[in-house]
Amino acid sequence: MIIFDDQEVKMTYELLQAWDKEYFWHPFTQMKVYREEENLIFERGEGVYLYDVNGRKYIDAISSLWCNVHGHNHPDLNRALTEQLCKVAHTTTLGSSNVPAILLAKKLVEIAPKGLTKVFYSEDGAEAVEIALKLAYQYWKNLGEDRRVFLTLSGAYHGDTIGAVSLGGIDLFHGTYRDLLFESIKLPSPYLFCKERYGGLCPECGEELLHMLEGVLKSRGDIVAVCLEGGIQGAAGMLPFPKGFLRGVRELTQKYEVLLIVDEVATGFGRTGSMFYCDQEGVSPDFMCLGKGITGGYLPLAATLTTEKVFNAFLGEFGELKHFYHGHTYTGNNLACAVALANIELFEREKTLEKLQSKIEYLSRRLAEFWELPHVGDVRQLGFMAGIELVKDKKKGESFPYGERRGFQVAYRCRERGVFLRPLGDVMVLMMPLVISLQEMDTVIDALKWAISELRP
Ligand SMILES: *Cc1c(COP(=O)(O)O)cnc(C)c1O
Repeated sequence: MIIFDDQEVKMTYELLQAWDKEYFWHPFTQMKVYREEENLIFERGEGVYLYDVNGRKYIDAISSLWCNVHGHNHPDLNRALTEQLCKVAHTTTLGSSNVPAILLAKKLVEIAPKGLTKVFYSEDGAEAVEIALKLAYQYWKNLGEDRRVFLTLSGAYHGDTIGAVSLGGIDLFHGTYRDLLFESIKLPSPYLFCKERYGGLCPECGEELLHMLEGVLKSRGDIVAVCLEGGIQGAAGMLPFPKGFLRGVRELTQKYEVLLIVDEVATGFGRTGSMFYCDQEGVSPDFMCLGKGITGGYLPLAATLTTEKVFNAFLGEFGELKHFYHGHTYTGNNLACAVALANIELFEREKTLEKLQSKIEYLSRRLAEFWELPHVGDVRQLGFMAGIELVKDKKKGESFPYGERRGFQVAYRCRERGVFLRPLGDVMVLMMPLVISLQEMDTVIDALKWAISELRP
């Protein structure tokens, strides 16, 4: 019940749905289509389950857009949040500080690759990237060098603000804004490049790409930074890098003295099997962008980690104007930092990463079954992130027409079996909370297999 215009109104699903369609413009959503469909309205969560307002439960198999880690409604995270809430919800960090933001910065530096010693907060992944690119750009300015070009990958996704879009390489999302964007040089998407030439990932294609990168770095002196995602191009449809590729990029950026930005917004906090993908490649970048899983999926928080070298280039007397003129109202928000700290402590206390290893192996084994399905063209995995690509014709590798929304059809069928999914076009994404059990994984995978097998040409 709510009080509305002095009248008690019973909140029914029908009423909520009507208001949802009337007032709420949803992200990445064609509202005409959305308004024609029946939509899920979630009310509460418990562990890996979400409950809608009709009381039906679904496994959250995309971790609420790739951010939930330890499950919903976790008592430890709730406690951290309510304890902080009873002290203060928000205090500005522009020139002052707060307890959880300090403790979290220290903790992040402790768990990050060695050499990343400074933390700049923001609220969303796109902002974390935006901050990295502005810092990188100003770094060279502060050193008296004029550099303006970024080197990125085609198929990249770094968020939806204009700077992050400039570094992006997904035409479907980014093409419209081309005239508003700044220049960036794009190398091919490693996975697509390898697949086209060699039929799959191999060290040779990684070497070829590194050779290409070296060609560009050698010939131009105006590169600010190389920017790429941590190990897998998520939004492009779960396209992993060849092993050693990131390591190779790091070596080249060091050799040619160009900064390296690694966007671990999707891959950070255990998603690839280690705390950060950089750990697997033994890489310490100049900037590491974090978001999504940083609060365990509780609150919007992001962080850009950088080095002593970058930090020092911004030091000077006040009048020298070397400092970073950037900040947001909620930068370093007390509640978000408190829950992020509890999230990291949970990793340690519950040995989340150790327990994850057998789930990753189990996922690989079960993913192999999808190759048998007539409408599955490719299956890709990095750690606990996976993508299953639907195709119209397997032999010819022909896709379904975009407007048919086959991915969504499959996702909607999965709801009948209590599984909540959101695809990327015709790629079915599996990004389950790290705490999911093998049994719950079976429910997800069986539902998805069934729904895909129901697809008709
Ligand atoms: C989701 C994502 C972003 C953007 O994060 P938001 O919080 O949605 O702004 C940036 N980079 C990568 C790799 C992502 O997956």
